Amino acid sequence: MTKSRPQPTPAKPQPRPQRRLPQRTCVICRRTDSKRTLHRIVRTASGEGVQIDPKGKLPGRGAYLCDNANCWQRAIEGGALAKALKTTLTPDERQALRLFATSLPPSPHSSDDLPDDSPVDDGAVMIA
Ligand SMILES: [Zn+2]
Repeated sequence: MTKSRPQPTPAKPQPRPQRRLPQRTCVICRRTDSKRTLHRIVRTASGEGVQIDPKGKLPGRGAYLCDNANCWQRAIEGGALAKALKTTLTPDERQALRLFATSLPPSPHSSDDLPDDSPVDDGAVMIA
């Protein structure tokens, strides 16, 4: 009598928990976050120019800015946004972006981020 061995249950390949949230980077302060707190600005592929893309679905070249109005200002005035989008901003686009920036909370991350009222240079070292 051959004893048929019970078939070992095939080991299911354990699906790795993919907890990878899409991380975006603010083009100014380089803060990374999931895209909920970063705003996508897109230069649409259809030639409508640069616009804010609240749903993150518009096709085109995108760049991200955090919800810090200072970053927006620097991005708009300093040209970093235009550079990231490889375009130039028209006055209308600037205006629309500025308007959006004014709707942002003044400084939501000031406590653990950059000190508010001290001038910070990129790469400045704090010496106690
Ligand atoms: Zn930022």
